[in-house]
Amino acid sequence: MAVDSKRYKELSCGDFRSDCGFLVRAETSEELMKYCQEHACNTHGKCGSSPEGIEKIKSRIKDVWI
Ligand SMILES: [Zn+2]
Repeated sequence: MAVDSKRYKELSCGDFRSDCGFLVRAETSEELMKYCQEHACNTHGKCGSSPEGIEKIKSRIKDVWI
C-alpha cells in the first residue's frame, strides 16, 4: 500500500522554553515563521522578533515527512 507522505517544516516551542508544548507545522518556512511569531506574541507576549531571534528560530526548524 502506498503511503502519501508530504514534507512539512516543524518547529516546537519546547525547544526554546520547557514550559510550552506548542508544536507547529507548515508547508513552507515562511508560513511556519508566521505561525511561530503569532504564537510567541499571543502566548508569551514576545512580539516582533529581532533578527537574532529569527535566526535562532530558523536554526530549529526541522523537516518532517507525514
Ligand atoms: Zn510557546
